[in-house]
Amino acid sequence: MARPNLAFRTRGLTKTYGTGEAAVRALRGVDLDIPQGEFVVLLGPSGSGKSTLLNIIGGLDRASEGEAWFGDQNLSELSDAALTRYRRDHVGFVFQFYNLMPSLTARENVELVTEIAPDPMDAEEALAMVGLRERADHFPAQLSGGEQQRVAIARAVAKKPTVLFCDEPTGALDSTTGRAVLKVLRDVNERLGATVMIVTHAAATAGMADRVIDFADGDVREVTENKKKLSPDEIEW
Ligand code: ADP
Ligand code: MG
Repeated sequence: MARPNLAFRTRGLTKTYGTGEAAVRALRGVDLDIPQGEFVVLLGPSGSGKSTLLNIIGGLDRASEGEAWFGDQNLSELSDAALTRYRRDHVGFVFQFYNLMPSLTARENVELVTEIAPDPMDAEEALAMVGLRERADHFPAQLSGGEQQRVAIARAVAKKPTVLFCDEPTGALDSTTGRAVLKVLRDVNERLGATVMIVTHAAATAGMADRVIDFADGDVREVTENKKKLSPDEIEW
């Protein structure tokens, strides 16, 4: 039987912060299969381990035990240099608070990535994709929150990532702006074919997903596959 190509597979993925009395078990043996090209939404209470999971499969952090596979690469076994290469070549990250360089224009912020990626799009093209071609020469302080987040998305997608991780990307935005950001993320998924994985508190976002992962207490509680996906305009906030 044909098996869909997996972007990620984790087995027994465990993360413990600290040691002894102070140890926090953030991930408790996560087994997860994420097919390539999907739009995935990860829901769960604060402190349940969502960011920890994203950081490990995104190559920003390492597991304590268990395996995390990107295609046929076991991330747990990569050297630091190889993990950095994985991140640089394949992974885009978008965070709640944009993390733009205030002294650089929108274009220059995107160029931080296009200058080091192996096969990037033009900064202009990436900004056009998020509807900000006209704002390329503006500084972050001259842009609204939603526009700054779109610059952050342009920066993340300009390298043409295989996978785009978004940790609460709409957390600081009002619902109209949040919707606009979700539209951009869906476009990235559909037009670039990137696997997009979004951590969010906005449970309604789940309606847009191919796959919804409910997370609790450091483990997967339930995985739901949507038969019908809603557009960002159709979801309720
Ligand atoms: P979520 O993103 O779902 O809110 P996190 O992955 O951020 O959850 O955190 C999971 C647990 O791990 C929480 O109890 C949190 O306090 C703890 N934690 C996260 N990062 C660290 C860290 N760097 N050091 C110690 N504990 C941490
Ligand atoms: Mg988090």
